Amino acid sequence: MRFIYSKHFPPKDFGAINLFGLIIVRKDYGSLTRVEQNHEQIHTQQMMEMLFVVFYLFYIIEWLVRLIQYRDRMKAYQNISFEREAYACMYDLSYLKKRKLFAFRNYYRKKG
Ligand SMILES: [Zn+2]
Repeated sequence: MRFIYSKHFPPKDFGAINLFGLIIVRKDYGSLTRVEQNHEQIHTQQMMEMLFVVFYLFYIIEWLVRLIQYRDRMKAYQNISFEREAYACMYDLSYLKKRKLFAFRNYYRKKG
């Protein structure tokens, strides 16, 4: 996993952003924990199976759908299937070893 530290990017609400497998971390956020790194690795896996461009396309479309649903930018972001999977599974550091292809599909509907 490759990291770049940046002073102004991503925006303040976010500590890091994953762009095509390259992780850009806000300097004032500090380094990512092992769990946060796992979150980003889950996204990299999602991107690879969605051929990167399709991942971002689906990500934005689902964010817009969730924005209509929740009427809150942060809630919309947290409920994108890719994010739901990454947040639900990031604490399991061996998750990527057992993860099934396109596992994010199981997170389209909210669990519990
Ligand atoms: Zn994420």
